[in-house]
Amino acid sequence: MAKNHERIHIDEKNLCSLCVTELESIYEELELTEAELDILSVPRQVFTVHFPVRLSSGTTKMFVGHRVQFNDSRGPSKGGIRFHPNLKVDHVSDLAFLMALKCAVINIPFGGAKGGVVVNPKELTRGELELVTRAYVRAIADFIGPFKDIPAPDVYTDEKVMVWILDEYEQLKGEHVPAMVTGKPVELGGIKARKYSTSLGGVFILESAMGKMGMDKSRARVVVQGFGNVGENAARILHEMGYTVIAVSDSRGGIINGDGLNIHSVITHKRKKGGLEGFEGAERISNDDLLLLDCDVLIPAALSDQIDRNNANHIKAKIVLELANAPTTSEANNMLFDRSIMLIPDVLANAGGVAGSYFEWIQNLSNDYWEQDKVLDRLRKVMIKAFDDIYSLCEEEKCTMKKAAYKIGIKRLLMAEKLRGNI
Ligand code: NAD
Repeated sequence: MAKNHERIHIDEKNLCSLCVTELESIYEELELTEAELDILSVPRQVFTVHFPVRLSSGTTKMFVGHRVQFNDSRGPSKGGIRFHPNLKVDHVSDLAFLMALKCAVINIPFGGAKGGVVVNPKELTRGELELVTRAYVRAIADFIGPFKDIPAPDVYTDEKVMVWILDEYEQLKGEHVPAMVTGKPVELGGIKARKYSTSLGGVFILESAMGKMGMDKSRARVVVQGFGNVGENAARILHEMGYTVIAVSDSRGGIINGDGLNIHSVITHKRKKGGLEGFEGAERISNDDLLLLDCDVLIPAALSDQIDRNNANHIKAKIVLELANAPTTSEANNMLFDRSIMLIPDVLANAGGVAGSYFEWIQNLSNDYWEQDKVLDRLRKVMIKAFDDIYSLCEEEKCTMKKAAYKIGIKRLLMAEKLRGNI
């Protein structure tokens, strides 16, 4: 490691913990200087705002919102806005780092951001939630915009929330600015594929990985953890493509049928009953057991830290496709690698979502709306190019896909910093 840079003084509490853990394992191999490590370990801008909202009861409540812009050396910051009662700025910062890396990994010209409001949306009416969203936008309006920082949906926010964000911002600016937010309804400049681009992007990657491993999809048995936007769409697309999805789950547990589930019927059942329980022709299974099922492809599409040192040695899948963010700990990732299980990391596997957002942003800026085929073709090309780059590096260096993805993403981020004269 080069010693010619002074370590910049950074207060420990401002470091992004995920970056520190993840970068520790590769900074020597990448021969990063301490200055480069500092650039990658701390978010550029962290905004915390407090704002009052008058609830329907007539009382006024103060809310807290955050927005973290991790790195914008490659382009405007990009990242979701979530509503969650336990939202912590440190976690928002970790997620913003992952967004910066993800955009670099698939080589789209965005930096990384994340944000949200500390709120339990289930405790508010739709009208109150709209007031909270609009007040949050007013508080951060000067820091966001189509060439500064572009929000998108995330946990507990949807296209309706994106409309409130757009409308409030446009009222403040006095002009139409559709490219300031992605994940909008089609009628207001959104694109149809955005809702399932995360899952479809992951499926493109899975198909490439299966090809490399000589696996046949007509025989592949798939297990999906999480049946929300990402998990449900992934299960549906794979089912429609001829894969056998044997088990799926949500927060209340899973269902399994070794001969395969009819995912369309599962979706209809979930819409009617509000969950997976009671689906005919399947048995119940716990989320812990679901991860350990004998299958070819395991898709964690729910929460972080699902595969760890306690269960990694019992995973039987040949491929783990991380559609959730950080579902596998670093230690478990290495344990799976030692057992020749291919883990396709989140920064690649679920990057189809931000690729979809990128296409929406381009269309809004150019006012040129593409045919669906063009959107899907561009998505496939972006994802497969990223997979091929990462896979080649893995072959060359005999390393995990995660390490290869981090190396590629970090090199691109640092090149942008270098070109700007920051290194
Ligand atoms: P969502 O809220 O729509 O769905 C989450 C699903 O996980 C729900 O079905 C929920 O019941 C289930 N779940 C919760 N706890 C669970 C548990 N303990 N075991 C099994 N299932 C559980 O969220 P989403 O948009 O589908 O996102 C899922 C994951 O994908 C998150 O990690 C998110 O950060 C990541 N992700 C989403 C996108 C996107 O475009 N939506 C993009 C990139 C990454």
